[in-house]
Amino acid sequence: MKGFITKALHVTKQTKDIHGALRMPIYENAAYEFASSAEFSDVSLGKIAKHVYSRSSNPTVEDFELHIKSLTNALGVLALGSGMAAVTNAILTLVKAGDSVITTKYLFGHTLTFFQKTLPNMGVNVKFVNVLDEEEVKNAFDKNTRVLFLETISNPQLEVANLQNLSDIAHSHNIPFVVDTTMTPFYIFDAKKFGVDIEVLSSTKFISGGGTSVGGLIIDHGIFSWDKVELLKDYYQKAGHFAFLYRARKEIFQGLGAVLSPTNAYLQTLGLETMVLRIDRACQNALELASWLQNKKEIKNTNYPFLEESPFCELAKKQFRYAGSILTFEVESQETAYKFMDNLKIIRRATNLHDNKTLIVSPYHVIYPFNSHEEKMELNIKPNMMRLSVGIEDIEDIKEDISQALR
Ligand SMILES: *Cc1c(COP(=O)(O)O)cnc(C)c1O
Repeated sequence: MKGFITKALHVTKQTKDIHGALRMPIYENAAYEFASSAEFSDVSLGKIAKHVYSRSSNPTVEDFELHIKSLTNALGVLALGSGMAAVTNAILTLVKAGDSVITTKYLFGHTLTFFQKTLPNMGVNVKFVNVLDEEEVKNAFDKNTRVLFLETISNPQLEVANLQNLSDIAHSHNIPFVVDTTMTPFYIFDAKKFGVDIEVLSSTKFISGGGTSVGGLIIDHGIFSWDKVELLKDYYQKAGHFAFLYRARKEIFQGLGAVLSPTNAYLQTLGLETMVLRIDRACQNALELASWLQNKKEIKNTNYPFLEESPFCELAKKQFRYAGSILTFEVESQETAYKFMDNLKIIRRATNLHDNKTLIVSPYHVIYPFNSHEEKMELNIKPNMMRLSVGIEDIEDIKEDISQALR
């Protein structure tokens, strides 16, 4: 069984429902009971693997995790309540007060807030670098550095860094490379092949399919030796190679209560089965639309990493199957942008990514509403720029909608 879709449908090691249901049902329950006190005690001590309480684990959520593990050939997978829970739980598993983290300012809005405000308030020093400048990244390391973090394609700038080179830099300092792959989930980007130790992503996006539910994933690809991490020493003694996942699940995730609901796990497992079909279609639509927008005289600066004009085209093609389904473009002014967006009839004004429907936002006004103009200029987010998340519609209808709105 090699094909991605076959694997998504027929997971090799799957938990069986006791009634033999062909699809794992939604187990909406909090607690599980045991045959005897001795069994209860053995399960609590971890001698027998069984579910105890649904904040810690649940059959429907576990089934979702096993699907992801099978598709990514990962060491292990932790499903969480949102993409933000995945980002924050992964980082909190690796840092304590006094440590430092290297990242970039070209991050998802709430992730940026976590690095700019939350972590510094907890005594963690965050260094922001230009990840395209590898010398600058190298120089940012010091004896307290614990993590190098970035996103595969930054949003909305759509910049692409050389992930293998950055992984090599992190590994030369015995530091794990943690990457948010939401823009390019595992069918598009083989994180393990490019040296990503911990992959985090929002399963709200391509995986859920149609924006049905919020969720997140932490994937350990099993390439980093966790005995190199002081903070995980005790966990390494207990769990060996699973030290990161052990602390992530047993201490951070269970303690913060970042649980994924069984209903959302069910919806996302269902989404996973058709993810490849939707990704193929949406990404082909995005490339076609980007090329088409380039030739529209009312539109400027169409940005999509697989366009030949993009400075990231060659690198993006080396790393990714597709450049995702997000593109940006500019019109003459902010007023024109508002008028254009209000004239659209099919494309929806909404902030999600990777919905089946094509969505549009003005990142300047909607995603970063409370940042100063100067900050937004520093992040290269302009008032006349719009971001499209291209859906799976018949692309001629989307082109026609854009044409009529421009008129
Ligand atoms: C959406 C998104 C997140 C956050 O995911 P939620 O499921 O909304 O919490 C994190 N990173 C990136 C790159 C995203 O696009």
